[in-house]
Amino acid sequence: MAGDTLRILVIEDEDTVRDLVRTVLERAGYEVLTAPDGQAGYELAQKERLDLVVSDLLTPRMHGYEVLQRLKATPSTRRLPVIVLSAKAYPADQRKALEMGAAAFLAKPFRPPALLAVVSRVLDTLRVRFWGVRGSIATPGPETVRYGGNTPCVTVERGRDLLILDAGTGLRPLGVALQAGAGGRPLDIKMLITHTHWDHIQGFPFFVPAFVPGNRLEIHGPPSLDKPLEKVLRGQMDPEYFPVSLGDMAADIHVEEVREPHFTAGAFQVHAIYVNHPGVTMAYRVTCGDTSVVYATDTEPYRRLLPGANGEDSVATEYATGRDGQLIDFVRDTDLYIADSQYTPEDYLTKRGWGHTCYPDVVDIALKANAARVALFSHDPMHDDDAIDRKLAHCRKLAEGTALEVIPAIEGEAIELIKEVIVG
Ligand SMILES: [Zn+2]
Repeated sequence: MAGDTLRILVIEDEDTVRDLVRTVLERAGYEVLTAPDGQAGYELAQKERLDLVVSDLLTPRMHGYEVLQRLKATPSTRRLPVIVLSAKAYPADQRKALEMGAAAFLAKPFRPPALLAVVSRVLDTLRVRFWGVRGSIATPGPETVRYGGNTPCVTVERGRDLLILDAGTGLRPLGVALQAGAGGRPLDIKMLITHTHWDHIQGFPFFVPAFVPGNRLEIHGPPSLDKPLEKVLRGQMDPEYFPVSLGDMAADIHVEEVREPHFTAGAFQVHAIYVNHPGVTMAYRVTCGDTSVVYATDTEPYRRLLPGANGEDSVATEYATGRDGQLIDFVRDTDLYIADSQYTPEDYLTKRGWGHTCYPDVVDIALKANAARVALFSHDPMHDDDAIDRKLAHCRKLAEGTALEVIPAIEGEAIELIKEVIVG
């Protein structure tokens, strides 16, 4: 998929506008398909692999709102972004189109640079979605219903490219959604595993696409302490623990151990570093175009853990500060830092050495690194929704007066990392 020319479907009944849009997009290097009415456009979108639809609102046979509604109601086209074009500049029409799931609204008449700016903004936007945000163990129930109870699983998407971060229990609903959205076509899935503690791999045996012949799955992660990564994944599916073995998964599965700090996973550039957590654990910085996301869950500051490193002993303090500085450099200037914020300072008094961060340290790291946003992640199983509200409020207070945006990781929610394009 990576490196393919991006394919855009233009649904427009006015010949002159359709030709203009086609010419502008083709000159910019996109492959363009066209449809003269909504019905034909909707049918093409079901058949063709597309990256974007640009649709007029008042199209014959099926108007643009209906095209939009149907595309969003069909699993195989739900994620396909749609830009709505219209001479109907009424705010209510624009609002309605956006409410119905349009990625952008472009008023007619428009100049070619404005069209290209909107198209590239929509296609370059990274979308990060949280499928599991809970640390340690899945914690379903009424106390966790607002933030979610599944263990770590996050997706980073750009257009049809998708990267999965960790295979906690949140991977199960993700797998169901991916397979439903495949529309019968084979899936090519890339996944990064930070480490093999239960909460980061327990969703894997329930990952539906791994059971479907024709699908391809590429998993990257560090080798475990004394075993290859594949053996650990296989081990949790031994008959003592699980009724189906890894060998019974019918997809083409490749497990690749991370040996180099920089590698590619589909359309995404990945930078990996080790972080401070029991066993072998990595954090990943994922970059696509000029947007980046840092996924650094399950890590404990050296300054907190090492004896004397909190100022009591100058050698220990200097050493720990240097090691913690590596994470700050790793997070530097990122658009989104997904951070282990499992403990309150009070929790930490009894949980020092368990491999997690207390949340004020997360704000400190994000500020020192000049991150644009930090998402509080890996919520403690002992923390109910109200406790997470308090954690969020405290972190926002700590970041007050700075440009840092503090957001909570919420299961099922997505964040769009939009790069604003200046229209020339
Ligand atoms: Zn862990």
